[in-house]
Amino acid sequence: VKFGVLAVQGAFGAHIAILEHLGVPAVEVRRPTDLDGLDALVMPGGESTAMSRLLETSGLAEPLSQRLSAGLPVLGTCAGMILLSREVLDGRADQRCFGAIDLAVRRNGYGRQLASFETDVAVRELGAPFPAVFIRAPVVEELGPGVEVLAEVDGLAVVCRQGPVWVTSFHPELGNDHRLHELFLSRVAGP
Ligand code: GLN
Repeated sequence: VKFGVLAVQGAFGAHIAILEHLGVPAVEVRRPTDLDGLDALVMPGGESTAMSRLLETSGLAEPLSQRLSAGLPVLGTCAGMILLSREVLDGRADQRCFGAIDLAVRRNGYGRQLASFETDVAVRELGAPFPAVFIRAPVVEELGPGVEVLAEVDGLAVVCRQGPVWVTSFHPELGNDHRLHELFLSRVAGP
């Protein structure tokens, strides 16, 4: 499989390091031609408003949107989750989202006190709990009937999947646990 990691802004380096560790070299996606021949994509955490702007100026937004509509497998984490959702609450008016997964998310939805925290999360299809780092994370406020919830924290969905689109509101690339990437990889690359 040929993997790409969206690299216009944010925490793309850690995702690339994990994929390399798992034996999957990944290309940095910065311009439209970087999407050519990709079998799967990671959209990292960072700042979704900045990423949205850079996706437009780089010319990536349209071709990426087309690849997503055509079923490109994608793992979106934190800001990546925001960009993949159907609706963004508390976003900037001109912020783009791709509607690749049927979620409405609220940016920075955990509030000031809980802006950043770490907690162990039980994820379906993984064994032991996953140490999850949340940084100004989005909260899932609505989810459509086609969305599977793989993990929740305090009744809020934090890992969701709809077909080839996987999202986490936390940062699975921070820390030494690579099981979420492995799980995504095993589904994308086949059993
Ligand atoms: N709050 C950020 C946003 O709105 C997301 C934070 C993150 O990716 N760690 O894009």
